[in-house]
Amino acid sequence: MALSPKKPCLRCRKNLTTLTYCATCMPIIEARKKKENKEYEKKRGSSRERGYDSAWQKASKAWLSKRKVCHYCGKPSECIDHIIAHKGDKKLFWDKKNWRPSCIKCNSSKCAREEGGFGNARRI
Ligand SMILES: [Zn+2]
Ligand SMILES: [Zn+2]
Repeated sequence: MALSPKKPCLRCRKNLTTLTYCATCMPIIEARKKKENKEYEKKRGSSRERGYDSAWQKASKAWLSKRKVCHYCGKPSECIDHIIAHKGDKKLFWDKKNWRPSCIKCNSSKCAREEGGFGNARRI
């Protein structure tokens, strides 16, 4: 087995290595890459989530201010229930015809029911 020829490290240009960077520089480069990736992901993720959250909060608040009673139990409405589970479908999610005022209790029990069976086929 022939050893690959050693060349100077790309970072310090001093230590010889068979790889791109020497053993001293490799961890530094890796750490820097990791940090950059993490910061990029953080920035992208949070701004996207923030935009989505504030738009949803604004729209749902305005909508609920006109529908103050839970559709299911008559208690004060606290959140919006999607009649057809949107499952990440943006069109269904934002479709006001698919919205129902709900209290948190009714909303979460409906979710649990839907996840436990196929749509409305199962009743409690
Ligand atoms: Zn080096
Ligand atoms: Zn309710």
